[in-house]
Amino acid sequence: MTSITTTAQETNPLLKPHENQFGIPPFDEIRTEHFLPAIKKGIEAQNAEIEEITARKAKPDFQNTIARYDYSGSLLRNVSMVFHNLNSSNTNPELQAVAKEMAPMLSAHFDNIRLNEKLFSRVREVYEARNSMNLTAEQSKLLEDTYKDFVRGGANLDESAKKRFREINSRLSVLTLQFGENVLKETNEYKLVIDNKDNLSGLPQNLIDQAADAAKKAGMEGKWVFTLHNPSVMPFLQFADNRELREQIFKAYSSRGNQNNQYDNKEIIKEIAALRLERANILGYETHAAFILEDNMAKNASNVEKLLMQLWTPALQRANNEAADLQALIDRENVNFKLQPWDWRYYTEKVRKEKFDLSDEDLKPYLSLENVKKGIFMVANNLYGLQFKELKDVPVYHPEAMAYEVTEKDGKHVGVLFMDFHPRESKRGGAWMSSYRKQYIDEQGNNIRPIITMVCNFSRPTANKPSLLTFEETSTFFHEFGHALHGLLSNSTYYSLTGTSVPRDFVELPSQIMENWAAEPEVLRMFAKHYETGETIPDSLIQKLKNAAVFNQGFETVEYLAASFLDLGYHNAKKADFTDVEKFEEEYLASLKLMPEIISRYKSTYFNHIFSGGYSSGYYAYIWAAILDSDAFEAFKENGLFDQKTAILFRKNILERGGTEDPMKLYRSFRGADPDIKPLLRKRGLIEI
Ligand SMILES: [Zn+2]
Repeated sequence: MTSITTTAQETNPLLKPHENQFGIPPFDEIRTEHFLPAIKKGIEAQNAEIEEITARKAKPDFQNTIARYDYSGSLLRNVSMVFHNLNSSNTNPELQAVAKEMAPMLSAHFDNIRLNEKLFSRVREVYEARNSMNLTAEQSKLLEDTYKDFVRGGANLDESAKKRFREINSRLSVLTLQFGENVLKETNEYKLVIDNKDNLSGLPQNLIDQAADAAKKAGMEGKWVFTLHNPSVMPFLQFADNRELREQIFKAYSSRGNQNNQYDNKEIIKEIAALRLERANILGYETHAAFILEDNMAKNASNVEKLLMQLWTPALQRANNEAADLQALIDRENVNFKLQPWDWRYYTEKVRKEKFDLSDEDLKPYLSLENVKKGIFMVANNLYGLQFKELKDVPVYHPEAMAYEVTEKDGKHVGVLFMDFHPRESKRGGAWMSSYRKQYIDEQGNNIRPIITMVCNFSRPTANKPSLLTFEETSTFFHEFGHALHGLLSNSTYYSLTGTSVPRDFVELPSQIMENWAAEPEVLRMFAKHYETGETIPDSLIQKLKNAAVFNQGFETVEYLAASFLDLGYHNAKKADFTDVEKFEEEYLASLKLMPEIISRYKSTYFNHIFSGGYSSGYYAYIWAAILDSDAFEAFKENGLFDQKTAILFRKNILERGGTEDPMKLYRSFRGADPDIKPLLRKRGLIEI
């Protein structure tokens, strides 16, 4: 067995075994200059491991080829996971420069592996003999996935096609990175500076305090700074009475990456779309979407379109009704204008207040970050018996990141969970879960336990108030925590099948199902306590929250579906002739009859999910998984929110199983039936109960 030569004199902390109790990367020792040499070492090590597989005289079999291949590359993935996590959650220009140098290197390395003929011929030989071997279900899945991965990675192409294939992958690796960096730059660049107190009218005090803090940090003491980061721009749009300023910040938000400056993403989009289509064509697919979806639960674009259309019509109808309600309110104010996108959130907040007498601000005192966190731990404890203990003496990558040890009821170690809550300029927007180490069983039979991280951008505490979450942020917390559980409770054998290594449209099931608990009265009473008085959230407020649950769902569903369609617009096209990105987006969404008062949740030029993250042709996955999670949660509603039998079924069939079997099969083993779309439609108020 090949091992990487590491000596006591090794000075690169990324190359030494991580010698603390849980194998946490030694963040305190890692410097930017350690990454490139470590990545190169990792690539060499994996090359040697592959070399060893292909040099074998013995006939290829599952163990000496497929399993060995799955074990290969462990150094490389450990180093890259540290790197990618830091580059997302605590980046700087030096790290970004390393990322740019590293991306084509890694892309070439993975191409070298998948286009390695000796290796592929061994994989194929095992694959062709698959029916005569006595494999477990997990082994069969690994064999099938490995073979498919090679074919999809170009292994069957001729020499000239292989060459072009490599060029495309290399170029895409750089373009997608550039796209994300541009979005981050544009998000950080803009600041709305207010120096006249009158212009703060309508804004909640904690937002004003935050804006004052931000101004102080920027050397503008006495003024107020609002930014395009969600915890700033979104409440500003909800509450600012000054319509011109709302319009200003909304336009800045929605024109990120589209300002014809050095951070403009339009040309990058055109090139990405064209390259993805060309690559799909080389592999024999008609579109990029066809290539991607084959590997997902949805299987093809027409299944996705069918689902989206099924929701689009009722959602649009509902959103039109909502718009009429908002317009009526505007008319009553005698201000004489037509509802615009920058008015939607503001008047929605007023209608919410009027119809349900409920505002985000009423709820926030009960949703302090600390209490929500306690609530989440309680839910995980009631469902799965898990316990969480803060680790004080382990290395962290930023002073704000906290580490927890997760254990079973009996104290058995499950894994480590990092949590990092607040926005900073070094962090990309949104919220996500990721791993520093995935669970798997190593060749010696050790169950390697995971190190998971969840990163969010929740409102910061201010000088006199703790961090208070909106209900939406609370749901996001539960959501990411669900992903974290998927990573933490993983209990399978082969690295590439464990944890969250499942199709895109399945991966959101464990996360989205958790959001359901956050909204249940019984659960809210467990954790929603006033941050000052400790008073439990009053029933009247819970009732209002329940009444308001389907409120604004037309808007939310429409803005989300518009983005999902837009994704398909780029990726299910048989020709990538997007000469004018702006015009394409406008005409495409108009052809779907998207109303002018709502814009796509992400416009093309800042649609990170599909042009920078891994969601191309996959943004629909959230609603696909919403069918699954709504249907799955019915099982808990039928049997009890913390029913142990149901929880164990969910844990054993979904959370522990990663991608070790076909997802629909796993789902049926949990639920005993196929998922039904009705619970979702009911939840969003899109059909009558
Ligand atoms: Zn998610």
